[in-house]
Amino acid sequence: MKVEEKILRDLHQELQKAKTQAKLKYQKGMIKIDQAEVEKRIKRSDYLLDFKEIEMDKKWLEGLFKDYLYILKKFKKDNVKVLEELEQSCEKKELDLEVLIKKVFYFDSEYLENLAKKLKLEAEDLNFLGLHLGNPVFELYAQRVKERIDMDSWSKGFCPICGSSPAMAYFRKDDGKRILWCQFCSTQWSFLRLKCPFCSNEDQETLRYFFTEEDDHHKVYVCDKCKKYVKTIDQRKMENPDDLDLGWENHNTLALDLVAEKEGFLNPCSQPPEQKRGVVT
Ligand SMILES: [Zn+2]
Ligand SMILES: [Zn+2]
Repeated sequence: MKVEEKILRDLHQELQKAKTQAKLKYQKGMIKIDQAEVEKRIKRSDYLLDFKEIEMDKKWLEGLFKDYLYILKKFKKDNVKVLEELEQSCEKKELDLEVLIKKVFYFDSEYLENLAKKLKLEAEDLNFLGLHLGNPVFELYAQRVKERIDMDSWSKGFCPICGSSPAMAYFRKDDGKRILWCQFCSTQWSFLRLKCPFCSNEDQETLRYFFTEEDDHHKVYVCDKCKKYVKTIDQRKMENPDDLDLGWENHNTLALDLVAEKEGFLNPCSQPPEQKRGVVT
């Protein structure tokens, strides 16, 4: 592992730890679930999340934000000033953390671009922050409702819990099945190998993969019909398969996203999601 990669991996692991701690602090009552609505959605084989049912405690969210900033300052010494300004923006209410989580979830690029300009940041950084702040909330929601659905019978290309497109996939070491992974709620579900998760295309002539010389561990599965792709790792070929951490894999393969985009493919997680319900306010 290169030095730079090792530092990023350590950063990722510290953020993960902060996330786990935050989940322990989150109170059960903060996630309100309308059971009747959930039952209705299960009956019509729909995904479950509705943002209206989620209540985010402001203090809790600010605590998590501060924990993240503390870690980021340790690892990104050159950016300490920017991180401090970000903290102040939150204190001055120029940055609303709950709104940020929602805007990232619904991929409101216009909002993110404008806010980034205002705060003199990159939209990418806000995306990273919103995703990490939202993770424990979505994961807790997923934990609460997961046992209600039959994950094995879910055959759609989007997350059964929150409706997001998969950010990563892997071939499972036990049975070679393709498993898709959601970057918001960390849910995993199996999906046919010879089908596009985004447009259901099954024409093998238009489904293929590529990989780069620098990285033959990951393959990018593309669909020439809808022009979308999913980064994929083969767990059977990993040195330590049980250490598979898809959040890390996703972050550590940003170079592949750039190659795919250069080749004319669309990152499915950078598209306003058609299938997600709810309106951002
Ligand atoms: Zn999800
Ligand atoms: Zn497709």
